[in-house]
Amino acid sequence: MNSRKKALARINTVSHDYPNQAKPYNIDTEYGTDSFSIKAMEDYLSKPIYKKLLETIEKGVQLDPAVADDVAHAMKIWAMQKGATHYTHWFFPLTGTSAEKHDSFIDPIPEGKAITRFSGKNLIMGEPDASSFPSGGLRSTFEARGYTAWDPTSPAYIKRVGGVATLCIPTLFLSYTGEVLDKKTPLLRSIQVLSKQAIRLAKCFGIEDTSVSVTLGAEQEYFLIDRNLYTLRPDLLEAGRTLFGAPPQKHQQLEDHYFGQIKPRILNFMHEVDLELWKVGIPAKTRHNEVAPAQFEIAPVFEELNLATDHNIMLMEILRNTAEKHGLTCLLHEKPFAGINGSGKHNNWSISVGKRNLLNPGSNPHENALFLTTLCAVIMAVDKHADILRSSTASAGNDHRLGANEAPPAIISIFLGDQLADIIDQIEVGGAKTSKSGKLIKVGVNQLPTLSGDATDRNRTSPFAFTGNKFEFRAPGSSQSCSSPNVILNTMVAEAFDEIATKLEKLSKNDFNKGLQKILQEIVKKHKRVIFNGDGYNDSWTKEASKRKLLNLVSTPEALKPLIAQKNIALFEKYGVYKESELRSRYEVFMEEYEKKIQIEASLTLQMAKTMILPAVVKYVKQLGDASNAFVSAKCKNPIKEYLEKISAMTTEFTSAMQNLEKTLKKNASTDKKISAMNEVRKTADALETEVDDELWPLPKYSEMLFAY
Ligand code: ADP
Ligand code: MG
Repeated sequence: MNSRKKALARINTVSHDYPNQAKPYNIDTEYGTDSFSIKAMEDYLSKPIYKKLLETIEKGVQLDPAVADDVAHAMKIWAMQKGATHYTHWFFPLTGTSAEKHDSFIDPIPEGKAITRFSGKNLIMGEPDASSFPSGGLRSTFEARGYTAWDPTSPAYIKRVGGVATLCIPTLFLSYTGEVLDKKTPLLRSIQVLSKQAIRLAKCFGIEDTSVSVTLGAEQEYFLIDRNLYTLRPDLLEAGRTLFGAPPQKHQQLEDHYFGQIKPRILNFMHEVDLELWKVGIPAKTRHNEVAPAQFEIAPVFEELNLATDHNIMLMEILRNTAEKHGLTCLLHEKPFAGINGSGKHNNWSISVGKRNLLNPGSNPHENALFLTTLCAVIMAVDKHADILRSSTASAGNDHRLGANEAPPAIISIFLGDQLADIIDQIEVGGAKTSKSGKLIKVGVNQLPTLSGDATDRNRTSPFAFTGNKFEFRAPGSSQSCSSPNVILNTMVAEAFDEIATKLEKLSKNDFNKGLQKILQEIVKKHKRVIFNGDGYNDSWTKEASKRKLLNLVSTPEALKPLIAQKNIALFEKYGVYKESELRSRYEVFMEEYEKKIQIEASLTLQMAKTMILPAVVKYVKQLGDASNAFVSAKCKNPIKEYLEKISAMTTEFTSAMQNLEKTLKKNASTDKKISAMNEVRKTADALETEVDDELWPLPKYSEMLFAY
């Protein structure tokens, strides 16, 4: 038996006798117990300190350093009771993952003894050596200093990995000179910027609230495969996706996996994931089978954006770690398997002032006017900055997904649904008066229609869809942090709010309605090209979009360029979200990451072709040759001859593709050349996979990875 067959045999020994997990769930004693939540703070801090900290968390009041010592002490006591011996500042470098460096609470004292200590200074600031994180030239390596700074708005929590508990403190990561080296800082800045402009805009409509919350619900897609098979695939181990693999006979054509019955092993895994998530206060809500075989989705209830972003990173870690405990591997890559659906991360975004969600149509004309203004602001923002919104989803992995008729195309457009599209049409010609539902509309104060709550249908093919009371951005990839897309969204919508509010603030009370109508009419006229309610998977849309002069940035290098376009630099500098140097550094880092990833994939393709696939083919040819000779020496008709010739021709194609890839790598040709050379090797190898003796094939096959549990 080869290793693949042995691995398959091992899967059959996996016990399906699961422990009964259906124990009563006590929400009071189990939910959020590993999160240093507001409740834990109240329990562990003195009243005055608790109040001060709460002001920082809820109202953004700057933290009084004097309280930090008390908070740190309380946090240490709490964490040690949970079994933690170490703490870490948990931060988000540009690599896209999270970073941690653990320090123990131990502090030696004389006579060989030790005490535990965790000071306010330890809590507020850390100084990890930053030299090995990508900075895109923002910091030279000899200036290794980087600082982490506590983000009190995202609760510290206990991370439990392999039975070890660590106190994790979400932090920002900055260079010695204050440049941003991470993904959290710009997100916080963009939330602040958007909040300020939202308050101004809402005020124009008579809303005096000054508390804003930008919210995010991130739907996470992922694959699960048996770990025995995973470890036999160097491509999955090193690149996160399969670089070889012929399509199975059955994949998703029967559409029988989506929302299908969940297999016991998977459900058992999902349940443990939910329990782990709840323990750290992540409100996991939905779990189900996704479209592709072995593909699943989990979605928590939406939360405040910064928190939801941290929680999504935690969720990805918990998915991975829990999978291992179950003998599975969780694949978060955007396209682990060619030819079947990849994974995305739908970004459900909205913004509320006070308790009012600006994207909720509401039930009276005042609310509708603010809603329609917000809607128009988003339309304007997305049209003006579609380029950079697309940028925020660019990566080597996501290139396989966008535009492959399974995920939204790389062309950014907005889906509104029939009713809203109709209202937008009416605004364009001068004030909306009716709604498509046929009901008479209250013309009311603002001459804008009253809308029903569920004003949209669903459209899975649009990258940016209005879904009732939020926008769902569907282009982000499954493995990426939620930060980048939302930094961009927040900033571009802030700009739109700012422009509209500036105009509205100049209007007298009497002119307000007419003035608003006119502003919205102008926006619609200018930006309606970005609205598209049809089928985004259809080729005719690509043509139509190009007529409308909408961008179609297909690959990462093209899609990253807008990061350094003057108009976008101006946008981010104006609102203080990124400095020009920070944008340039991001461009460098992301381009480099892209090129390195392709380089790794290309050399891995060659390596696997040489050391795994060619040897199997050679063995098979030898088998055929022996059989052929046997026929010849028995002086029978030789039925193998033609077949041998066919395999010989296929092997020639394969080896010449390999040689071409080797040359491409040797002379370090362009990334595009590497991609096409590697695709050619794959094509010829996959064809051989369907011919070569199954006993000899070393790599777990698609059907095995996708269906064997
Ligand atoms: P779908 O039907 O699109 O798959 P799901 O129920 O899986 O929807 O996910 C929708 C996500 O949107 C959930 O995380 C949900 O909490 C979130 N959501 C709902 N309302 C809002 C809102 N106002 N702001 C942000 N996210 C929201
Ligand atoms: Mg969903």
